[in-house]
Formats: sequence, C-alpha cells, structure tokens
Amino acid sequence: MRSPLILLFYLAALHSTTVATEESSLMTLEGPITTDSFQLILTHEHVMSWFGQDPYYIGQFDAEDVKKQVVPYLKKIRELGCTALVECTTAYFGRNVKLLQELSEESGLPIITNTGWYAAANDRYVPNKAYQLSAEEIAQYWIREWKYGIDGTEIRPGFIKLAVDRGPLSDIDRKLLIAGTIAHLETGLVIAVHTGDNPDVAAQQLTLFKERGVSPSAWIWTHAQNVKNADPLIEAAEQGAWISLDGVRTDSERREHILGLLLALVDAGHIDHILLSHDGNSYPSGRDIRPFDALMTDFIPLLKDEGFTDSQIRQMTVLNPREAFAIKIRAY
Ligand SMILES: [Zn+2]
Repeated sequence: MRSPLILLFYLAALHSTTVATEESSLMTLEGPITTDSFQLILTHEHVMSWFGQDPYYIGQFDAEDVKKQVVPYLKKIRELGCTALVECTTAYFGRNVKLLQELSEESGLPIITNTGWYAAANDRYVPNKAYQLSAEEIAQYWIREWKYGIDGTEIRPGFIKLAVDRGPLSDIDRKLLIAGTIAHLETGLVIAVHTGDNPDVAAQQLTLFKERGVSPSAWIWTHAQNVKNADPLIEAAEQGAWISLDGVRTDSERREHILGLLLALVDAGHIDHILLSHDGNSYPSGRDIRPFDALMTDFIPLLKDEGFTDSQIRQMTVLNPREAFAIKIRAY
C-alpha cells in the first residue's frame, strides 16, 4: 500500500502536469492543444445558433441539414488559413456540443466552445433559475462544465461567454458577471462579454472585475466595433482589456469604420490588445450563411495596402488570440 506521503507527492505531480498542459493551451472540443500549434484564429463566430427562437437548453437542429450547409463552409474557412474557430453560442441559445464536434471532425477545423449564460436580447435566453441562484451557485454550473464536461460529454469549454443588455447594468447582468469572475478564478477561462456600444457599462465591468480580484486582461469587450469613436476602447486597452472588433465585413462603410478604430488603437500602442473576427454564422436558425471569410479574403489585404507588416498582422490574428484564450488565471 502506498504511504500517504507518496500519495501526496503523486497527486501534486499529477496536478502540476495537468495545470502545465492547460496553461499553454487552448481548450478545443478535442481537449487541450498547445497554443503554438495554431495560426490564424477566428475569435468570435457562430457555427449555428438558435437566435430569434424560443430558448431551449440544447440547440435543436436537423443534423443532416446543418452538415450539408456547414461542413463545406468550414472546410473553405480552413483552406483560407483559419486554424481554429471560437464558437460563441451559449446554452439556451443554440449550443449543441455533440453536433459541433461532428462538424469539427468532418471539416477538420478545430472549434472552441463556451460555458456561461447570455443576458442580452432582453434576458430572453437567461434560464429562470439564474434569478433564484446566487452568483456563487451559478458559477458552480460553469465550473462543473469545465471540470467534468458539457451535457454528459467529455467536451470542455474554452472560455466563458456572457452578454449584457443596453443601458445601465441590470441586477441579473451584474450577478452573471460576478459569477463569471468567480468561475474565472477557478478555471482560468477568459470571459467574453457581449457589450457593444456601451462604454459606461464596459468601464463598470472593469471596475467590478478589479474589485473581485480579476485582471481586465481576463475580459474581452465583445462587439467593440459598435462604438462611435476609439477613445473608450483605448481606455479599456490601457487597463489590459481585449478589444474585439468582430464585425469585419466587405461593405465599404463598415470596413472603413473598423479600420479607423483599429488604426487609433494601434497609434495608441495597443496592437497587442486587438482581436478580429466577423460574428458570422454558418447556420443562423436554419437561414443562409452569414459569412466569416472576409478577414482572410478582404481585410488582411486591406491592412497590407495600409502598410501593415506581416508581423503586425500576425500579432492581431495569431498571437493575440492565442494569448487571450490561453487557459490562465489572471488575478488582479
Ligand atoms: Zn455573436
């Protein structure tokens, strides 16, 4: 029989190897993969979502229909140089990790899924129990998914996805954000919060994070491109936050607006805080694809025309996503 001391050493060794593996890794549907093995990563997309439909805990889709539409598109994205995709559809909103895994396997594109609950869309997709549970109890739901897998699978989340409504921070928004900070300190998962054009609430979130001992570098300002000017983005980046310009499109108005914000952030010295993506959707409640290829086909060439070097483009599309989504507790 092993002595208690040897057992203790054994457990400590086991623990430290697990942490070491995860720390330099992204948590994909297939498990942890070292960050170095990824090149361009799309940091905010939807493979399929249940948007506009009634909340349903696990997204209900016709798997064959989804595959017919989605697999060729994911293959195309992979051929354009995307090496991983961050899937931002939460539970109650269309998350279906088993189907997602089949799509990832059939297309060969690594996918990262999430834990967390979505409190934009006037709280339509917030489960009723969230109003009764404490922030600590809610966090335990998400921590359990991290520790034991999602929906009876071994699939683990690679980040926490939250969302706030327009206007001031509501009680439920605040409670879910607090739950997010608790879950972060336990899991090391970065927290992407759908915030959009709401600089006051962005600033409030960073204050709340710091008060709870979580660094702003654990927070992603999702849909940051919806702001009118770059000042609040620069302020957030100065504190360490990630700025997600996730509305890349080919139409001239939007690409000019995003380019303007990006240039302002770069001029202010924050190229290492920018994330680029499309918020596309390859199966939006069964409708046509909302594309997520413009970064590779249009926006990167535009950046080159603007004089960006390969290493600057690599910073924004490879190094920043690796760092943002690396499993790492970021205490403040
Ligand atoms: Zn989205």
